[in-house]
Amino acid sequence: MPTFRAIRIDKADKGTQASYVDFDENELMDGDVTVRVSHSTVNYKDGLAITGASPVVRRFPMIPGIDFAGTVEASDSPAFKAGDAVVLTGFGVGEQHMGGFAQKARVKSSWLVPLPAGLTAAQAMAIGTAGFTAQLALLALEKHGAKPADGPLIVTGAAGGVGSIAVALAKKAGWHVIASTGRPEEGDYLKKIGATEIIARQELSEPGRPLGKERWAAGIDSVGSHTLANVLAQTKYRGAIAACGLAQGMDLPASVAPFILRGVSLLGIDSVQCPMPERHEAWQRLARDLDKDLLASMTRHVPFANTIDIAHDILAGKVRGRVVIDVEQK
Ligand code: NDP
Repeated sequence: MPTFRAIRIDKADKGTQASYVDFDENELMDGDVTVRVSHSTVNYKDGLAITGASPVVRRFPMIPGIDFAGTVEASDSPAFKAGDAVVLTGFGVGEQHMGGFAQKARVKSSWLVPLPAGLTAAQAMAIGTAGFTAQLALLALEKHGAKPADGPLIVTGAAGGVGSIAVALAKKAGWHVIASTGRPEEGDYLKKIGATEIIARQELSEPGRPLGKERWAAGIDSVGSHTLANVLAQTKYRGAIAACGLAQGMDLPASVAPFILRGVSLLGIDSVQCPMPERHEAWQRLARDLDKDLLASMTRHVPFANTIDIAHDILAGKVRGRVVIDVEQK
């Protein structure tokens, strides 16, 4: 029986249980492309899946891992052939369809993006769903018409995965970046990757007023809850905020004041079902704009056997920047 190394999540007496296993290839789900996975990464959602903190896994057993990069091993699709380098993020992989914390994945060809020229598989996973989402947020702000001349751009959860890449991309695009973080000790790190100003998380995370002083023209928020409400309340006239996360909470205890009195826009960002043309655009921009040395400076590489530990760390807010899982390294 052909097997490969994987993490498997099973239902347990209380909740779910994640373990390292030798996985039977015949148990992989249907798909027209089989990929030899070389790298994956731990995103916040992977933390939720592995720890069972939130019911993101919809089928059992499940191989978690919402993204991966690797090489096509076999393909029934004319779009890909054996040897092609590919990247996958989202589409319910690692939630409803067996995912990237494994040496092999079988998926639909319509979910795959060719590895963009200029990126290695390891760099693509240093970017991962988090970086891809940060790029989607910046693209959404740009399409809305936001530009650096309008004023500063705030990034919340700045020392996290989405936040770190958002800081670097916004800086590269010419923005004056204000980074909000709960980890003051990461101030030097945030300045190195592109922040001009650092503010304390507590300035935004408590219940606030419906409208405050106008401080920024744009924002990328991966935190939600009171933080997003306060970010909106302090956005300049006709500014725009891209909302992509819920690290503080899924709620949005806000008023309509910023929308109806200042014409502020709230742009929703979803990376999971993002249509293919926008995916290609985002990956091309990432390959072009994200400084590779900067990316390396915000990335830690760990062997496969550390994945479950990192999943716990990310929910505890202990992970800085990005973590790449080297799937081939035990
Ligand atoms: P990380 O854990 O790497 O980053 C989250 C950051 O949020 C932390 O580093 C921390 O930043 C901050 N934070 C954590 N807890 C709190 C809290 N209680 N209150 C305020 N701030 C907090 O996760 P990711 O970057 O991978 O993901 C960030 C968010 O974006 C998650 O909610 C995730 O689900 C979401 N997401 C959404 C996607 C989409 O398609 N819409 C795709 C990818 C991610 P600091 O220490 O600097 O304060």
